[in-house]
Amino acid sequence: MIAEIISVGTELLLGQIVDTNAAFLARTLSPLGISTYFRTTVGDNPDRLRGAIDLALSRSDVIITIGGLGPTSDDLTKETIAAAFGDPMQMDDGHRQWLEGFFRGRVGSLPQSNLKQALIPVSGQGLPNPNGTALGACFEKDGKIAICLPGPPNEFIPMVETSVVPILSEHTSGEPMTIHSRVLRIIGVGESSLEDRMKDLMQGDSPSVAPYAKTGEVHLRITARAESRVRCDAIIAPMELEIRTRLGNAVYGVNDETLEHIIITILRERGQKVATAESCSGGLISKRLTDVPGASHAFVLGVVAYANEAKVKQLGVSEEILRAHGAVSPETAKAMAVGIRQASGADFGLSVTGIAGPDGGTPEKPVGTVHIGLAWNGGVISQHNQYIGNRAIVTQRAAHSALALLRAYLIDPSDPIFDVK
Ligand code: ATP
Ligand code: MG
Repeated sequence: MIAEIISVGTELLLGQIVDTNAAFLARTLSPLGISTYFRTTVGDNPDRLRGAIDLALSRSDVIITIGGLGPTSDDLTKETIAAAFGDPMQMDDGHRQWLEGFFRGRVGSLPQSNLKQALIPVSGQGLPNPNGTALGACFEKDGKIAICLPGPPNEFIPMVETSVVPILSEHTSGEPMTIHSRVLRIIGVGESSLEDRMKDLMQGDSPSVAPYAKTGEVHLRITARAESRVRCDAIIAPMELEIRTRLGNAVYGVNDETLEHIIITILRERGQKVATAESCSGGLISKRLTDVPGASHAFVLGVVAYANEAKVKQLGVSEEILRAHGAVSPETAKAMAVGIRQASGADFGLSVTGIAGPDGGTPEKPVGTVHIGLAWNGGVISQHNQYIGNRAIVTQRAAHSALALLRAYLIDPSDPIFDVK
């Protein structure tokens, strides 16, 4: 089955928004065994939209349109598909009544312009949209299918999962299928080395395993296709176990779990606390930690000590260390970590000092040089990292590495990197 995705919207053509919906949809279609041969973007213009639809119908079995289901006069997708299919539309009375109730509670009565959001194809079906006012639509004629979905991602994504996948899997395999994924979040293993170690696991279809490089980490998405969610989970579980066996502690979380979530959870369980002393990361570590609900149980104090005097006054870094080694050095990172631990009374002091650029680099300490410090009861270490990238990337990676170092200590303090002898 050949699919074509048609994204409708002048905003997309002007580059004002990025077509994340089409990317999401394409990732969903391939595990269904559907080949996406074409992706088209067209503005809110009825003639050009009609041209794109006719072309798509001439070369694809299924076309899926994104956007243009709103109430305004430039929202024309459903009408244009109906014309291309020669399929008149009819009012879905149930949805019209729902719209009337929805608007009565808000603006008094149903605006005329919204009425068309309840139109569905006579020979096809309307597709429920739990998060918006526009019904989706599915047209079918002469073996061709057209599915119209709304543009706002919070409406679009659930409809892909609850309408598109069941409709299309029924056409491809004769039985309704569901797709389910689980993401393993991995730190400390590069994308290419990960691919080498997982190559044999990446050949499969259900489950399929695919790597995604993120800033400072890699995600492995395990995806299964089966007749039920329970069956998908059963297909995913042994694959997850195999990956975890190979990668050990490098797998730090699943799905939406972030490093900061994991850290706060562990610290809370143990009744321990952390404090941070940041230079080049400008407070990003404390921001990430305090974004986690319940962080107050585990986070005590965060200091952004940018100037040397601040490092001395606020953190007790000795002028001697700064003079002998410089602000960006293992010695300063350690002194900052020890200093914030003492000042706060926390169990852990975590520090970052580095050169984010674009200026300030030297041949010995180029832009991207970052030292991270971690102090605990009975020890302190520093870690040297060298990053490539602009100021924003260096800062983000510095914060990420610092969190990764603390997490590594929390799950295995006997790791040789924490050997202080
Ligand atoms: P509305 O009822 O909001 O008008 P619609 O179905 O007519 O919805 P559009 O008007 O095309 O959809 O887009 C509405 C909004 O949805 C856009 O401003 C944009 O924020 C988002 N959006 C639209 N298309 C996409 C896309 N392909 N990828 C990501 N976001 C999109
Ligand atoms: Mg619109």
